[in-house]
Amino acid sequence: MSSEIDIAIIGGGNAGLTLATLLSQQTNPPQTVVIEPQTAEQRDCSWGLWAEAGQVQQLEHSMMGRWQRWQLVDHNHRVVQNSNQYNYLSLSSADYLLGCAAQLREPVTLVQESVSSVQPDGDRLLVETHNQRYHARQVYDSRPPKVIENGLRQHFLGWHIHSKQPISHPDIATLMDFRVDQTKGLHFIYALPFSDHHMLVESTLISRTVEARDWYRSAIEGWLRDNDIEVENLIHEEAGVIPMDQLEANPHAGESRIAAIGAASGAVRRSSGYAFQHIQQQVGALADGIAKGDMRVPPAISSQLTSMDRLFNGVLLNRPDLAISLYMRMAQTLNGDQFARFMLGRATLSDWMRVIMAMPKIPFLRQLLHA
Ligand SMILES: Cc1cc2nc3c(=O)[nH]c(=O)nc-3n(C[C@H](O)[C@H](O)[C@H](O)COP(=O)(O)OP(=O)(O)OC[C@H]3O[C@@H](n4cnc5c(N)ncnc54)[C@H](O)[C@@H]3O)c2cc1C
Repeated sequence: MSSEIDIAIIGGGNAGLTLATLLSQQTNPPQTVVIEPQTAEQRDCSWGLWAEAGQVQQLEHSMMGRWQRWQLVDHNHRVVQNSNQYNYLSLSSADYLLGCAAQLREPVTLVQESVSSVQPDGDRLLVETHNQRYHARQVYDSRPPKVIENGLRQHFLGWHIHSKQPISHPDIATLMDFRVDQTKGLHFIYALPFSDHHMLVESTLISRTVEARDWYRSAIEGWLRDNDIEVENLIHEEAGVIPMDQLEANPHAGESRIAAIGAASGAVRRSSGYAFQHIQQQVGALADGIAKGDMRVPPAISSQLTSMDRLFNGVLLNRPDLAISLYMRMAQTLNGDQFARFMLGRATLSDWMRVIMAMPKIPFLRQLLHA
C-alpha cells in the first residue's frame, strides 16, 4: 500500500504527538501521519517539569502530583524552596499521550507501525514501514537519539510504592537527596509523594556507565530504610536512560526535508536531563511556522544555554569531588521562583549572576580554558 501525504512524523512521543495535536487544531491542517510502534501504556513513565498556573490547568488530565515546595538534601544541608509562580508537576506520560491522540482529527492520524527506512524519492520522501509506504513532502523524525560512545548519561530506576505508615511532608518533592553511595558517579534519590501513602522513589545516577538493576534497587531500599518508610506494596518499577551529552551525527544532515524534533534534535538539557518544556516550545513554534508554510525546526535549546550546560558537565566530570556542592550551592543561592526559572532555561541575567557568584571560580575557569 502506498499513500501521498504532506507530513510524516516518526515517533509518537512528546514531540511527535504534541506536534500532531497542534497541527490537527489548525484551520487547514496538512495531511499528516504519526507513525509509532508502541502503545502509550507500553511506554508509560513519569515526566517531571516546572509549570506556571495556566499550563498546570492544561496538563491536569495527566497530572499525578503537583508541588510548590521542593528540596535538595546532602549530609550537611537541607534546602527547602517555595515557589509562588511555579509548580513542580509529575505527569503520567501515557495519560498525556492518550490525551493528545484523542484530540487528533482528520487529516491528521496516528498509525501503530515501525518505520524501517526513510529516503529521498524524487520530489518526495519515501517512508517505509512493514505494511505501508508513505510519500511525504516533509518528515519530522523523533526517534530516540544515540549518544556518542562513552557519553554522559542520566540513568535511573524508580519504584512506585504504597507505604505502611503515612509519609511525612507529602507537600515537599525531593528533587535530589545525595545521602547515598557516591562511588559510581553522581548519585541521588528523587522522591515524589503523590499522597500520604503513595510515592515514587528513584535512584538516579549521572555517569558514563549504566549499572545492573539491582544496584539501583538496593539504593532505594537503603534510602527507604534510612527514612523509616516501610513498603506496603510495590506498585510498579520504571527505569530509563537520558542522554546528557553530544548526540551522534544526524544521518540525514543536509537534507532539510528530514528534520529531527524533540530529544533527537538536542532538546534534553545536558545539565539536568529535563526536556519536556523545551520540546513543547519547539513543536509549538514549529506548528506556527508550518501554518505559514515554514517547515524549518526551531532549536529546542539555545546554543548559549547548551554551551553553559557543557561547561557545567565538564566541571562535574573533572571535579567529581565538587559535584554535590555545585547543585547545593545553586539551590542555596536561588529562591524557588529563580530555581524554577533556571531549570526551565528561562533564567534572567540576575539569576545567572547569582549562580555564577555562588560557584567555585577556579574549576570553572580551568574548564573554560580546557574547552
Ligand atoms: C524514561 C525517561 C524518563 C524521562 N523523564 C523526563 C522527565 O521527568 N522530565 C523531562 O523533562 N524529560 C524527561 N525525559 C527526557 C525525555 O527524553 C523527554 O521528556 C521526552 O519524552 C522526549 O520526547 P521525544 O518525543 O523527543 O522522544 P520520545 O518520547 O522518546 O519519543 C520517540 C518515539 O519514537 C518511537 N520510535 C522508536 N523507533 C521507532 C521507529 N522505528 N518507527 C517509529 N517510531 C519509533 C518510540 O517508540 C518513541 O515513542 C525522560 C526520558 C526517558 C527516556
